[in-house]
Amino acid sequence: MLLDPQQTRALIVHALEHRYAVLAVNADSPAAVVDVLEAASACDAPVIIETSLWQLKGRSYGAGDALLGLSLYRAQVAALAGHPRLRGVPVVLHTDHIKGPETFAILEAALGAYSSLSLDSSDMTPAQNIAAIGRLCASAQARGEPLALEMEAGVDAGVSSLADCDALFGVAERNHPGYLALWAPGVGTRHGLGSDGYPSFSDRAVAAHQQRASELAGRPIGIALHGSSGLPGESLRAAVQAGAAKVNWSSESLLLRSEAAQRFFATHGAELDRHHKDWKSTAMDNGLQTFVSGEYIPRVIERIKLLGGAGHGTAFLRDGRVPAPRGPR
Ligand SMILES: [Zn+2]
Repeated sequence: MLLDPQQTRALIVHALEHRYAVLAVNADSPAAVVDVLEAASACDAPVIIETSLWQLKGRSYGAGDALLGLSLYRAQVAALAGHPRLRGVPVVLHTDHIKGPETFAILEAALGAYSSLSLDSSDMTPAQNIAAIGRLCASAQARGEPLALEMEAGVDAGVSSLADCDALFGVAERNHPGYLALWAPGVGTRHGLGSDGYPSFSDRAVAAHQQRASELAGRPIGIALHGSSGLPGESLRAAVQAGAAKVNWSSESLLLRSEAAQRFFATHGAELDRHHKDWKSTAMDNGLQTFVSGEYIPRVIERIKLLGGAGHGTAFLRDGRVPAPRGPR
C-alpha cells in the first residue's frame, strides 16, 4: 500500500525502534519500479521508491517535462502499490534530488501526492536551505496537507558537525515544528560508486546526529544515508545500528541493471536477426526487461536483508500504530 505522510513518519519510527533501515531505490524506469516492489514483496519488507529530477525528465517518464514525469511516476507507483499482489508492501514514494529553477513547482505539485519530500540543497547556502524547507512547510500548512520531510546538508562534504545539525535541522524544526522525519548529514559517504570503501565513514556520526536531531525535534528522527553504493556491508550494518532509517541506493542499482542489459545483448545478439525465429520476443522491451529482472531482483532482496528490513512489512501494517491521515499537530 502507498503510505501517506503520517504513515511514512510512523514507518521511520518503526524502523528506528526495530533497528532496520528502509531501502530507498532511485528506480529510473517502469520496469525498475516493478522489480523493486516485487523484491520487497518477496522478503516482506517496506520499501521507498524515490525519484530525482533526472528521472522525472527522463524518457521513461516526463520526456523533458518534470511535472508530467511527477504525475506518471506517481500513477505507476500508486497503481502497483494498490494491486492485490503488492498491497501488503508498505511503499513510500519520495522525491529525492530535486534542484534548479523548477524545484518549487515540482515539490508543490508533489505535496499531498507523494509520501515524503526532500530537495537537493547542494547548491544552496544554509539560509537558502532553511528557507526552502520553511517554504514547503508553510505551503503544507496553508493547504492543510500533511507532510513528511527529509532535510539534507553537505552529504558529500565529509562528516557534518553537530553544530550543522543545530544550525540547519534545529532552526528548520523550530520555524515549523512537526514536519521533519529524516535528517541527512554528511557521515563520510559520497554519491557515486567510490572505490576506497569511504575510510572517513563514521557510524558514530550517524548515532550522534540521530540523537541530536531527535532531541531538537522532541520525537524520533531517522538518519537518511546518501551515497551508500560504495560502502562496505559491515559499515552499512553499523550505520543501521546507529540510527540510519533510510538508505538511498542509486549508482550500484543502475550499474547492476545496465550490466545485466549488456549481458542480455551479448548472449542474445544472434537472435536479433530478422530470420531468427525468436527475433521478435528478443527485440521486445519485455525480452530485455525480463532478463534484467531475473538478475536484479535477487540483488535488491540481498540489499533489503543487509539493512535488516526483511519481515517488517506486514509487521508494520499490523501493529496498529499506522495513524489515519492528518496534518502534523
Ligand atoms: Zn542522494
